[in-house]
Amino acid sequence: MLKSSVYGSLLWAEVDRELNSLLFISNGMASFISAYRHDLRPEKIKFILKDLWERSKHVRNLGVAVGYKITYVYPEVGNSKIIGKDFRDIAKQWPKVKQAVDTRQGVFDGPVDLLQDGKGFIYRYPIYLDDTYWGIMSTVINTDEFLDAAFKNTPKSQPFAIRTSDTKAVFYGDPNLFEDKNAYRQTSIVPNGKWEWAIKNNPNPFTNQFFVYQLLGFLLSLMCGAMVYRIILAMRKLSEQAMLDSLTSLPNRRLLQDRLDMAYLSCNRTGKMMAIFVIDIDYFKKINDTYGHDFGDEVIKTVANAIKVTLRDTDTVSRVGGDEFIVLLKEFKVLENVHAIAHKLSEVFASPWLIQDQEITIHLSIGISVYNPQQPVSIKALMKQADIALYESKTKGRNCFNFYQE
Ligand code: GH3
Ligand code: MG
Repeated sequence: MLKSSVYGSLLWAEVDRELNSLLFISNGMASFISAYRHDLRPEKIKFILKDLWERSKHVRNLGVAVGYKITYVYPEVGNSKIIGKDFRDIAKQWPKVKQAVDTRQGVFDGPVDLLQDGKGFIYRYPIYLDDTYWGIMSTVINTDEFLDAAFKNTPKSQPFAIRTSDTKAVFYGDPNLFEDKNAYRQTSIVPNGKWEWAIKNNPNPFTNQFFVYQLLGFLLSLMCGAMVYRIILAMRKLSEQAMLDSLTSLPNRRLLQDRLDMAYLSCNRTGKMMAIFVIDIDYFKKINDTYGHDFGDEVIKTVANAIKVTLRDTDTVSRVGGDEFIVLLKEFKVLENVHAIAHKLSEVFASPWLIQDQEITIHLSIGISVYNPQQPVSIKALMKQADIALYESKTKGRNCFNFYQE
């Protein structure tokens, strides 16, 4: 027999351990969404949901709401009823969803009556991208299965009951224990909520080795949770790196393509224009041959940085090849803005640079194409136009910019 307070801590430690692994999954899903934000295709989200669901225990289903509309659910079988529902129309669930969105923190709710029948805990985790609300992740947990698993290793010597602090609804054990004046009472914190416990008091308490054993188990499970979290972070970093150029950390061609696709759609919607600059360093082979490849790398980094600081943060500067960069200027209203930026870039490279104690002149040739939704062409054609304009700059003697003209 254990002292009731010790027994209580032990029970909570078991629940906390099971909870931790679930919460890490939700946070992991959010990290994936954030990492793939520029490439959020439905099949990718579905694949991630399936993968996470298969790795998890006691999870009835995982769901992703875009905005407030439940858009993706895995598994769909038995849960299809909820697809397409808007949280704002579900009076019983909306307050907790709103709480998660307003506090920007995960909220643990339940057990609630599920729309798709049955009862379950729901952990809701809001996703913010660039400080803007994007959507919400829901992890629906089978209540009984979850609690049975949590308590499977604890001795059943002392009866106990659990209820939610706000609704006082008992969801585990004998509700009468809450009327028992001698019962030991404790409160535990779940994300943005509380549970209350009533544990039948034991008149002959003493602690034993069992407690130490349980505590070690708990610490071990925390370490496992932390490991899962680190793996997810590492995967996220890898997927981000796959989108960046390793020398300059600028977006690579793949990420540029995503940004181009988005900007193109946006221009067609808003009627605004966008421009593409293809920039190539003049006689770069000579710089490599004269000063060496490492020095050449420094020149590329210098050029990358100089272009980047000359433009706005919202424009995309990418490195797409050896000494070639592509700049995307989004949504401008008048063509003069593009001329002004081209002049600004020429000015930046008009005077020599000091690289590794070496004074060096770097010149750029630039080809520019402009997309006007009034005369639509494909992105591929637009890129080709910029390439033709660059070729003209090179043949005209380099160190200049040139707009594509038909
Ligand atoms: P042009 O004026 O016509 O542009 O001639 P260029 O000498 O600059 O030649 P081009 O642009 O065709 O070739 C770029 C060269 O850049 C070819 C290659 O040897 C070199 N290069 C490619 N990648 C790297 C890199 O990562 N680092 C360094 N240092 N050099 C690179
Ligand atoms: Mg070149």
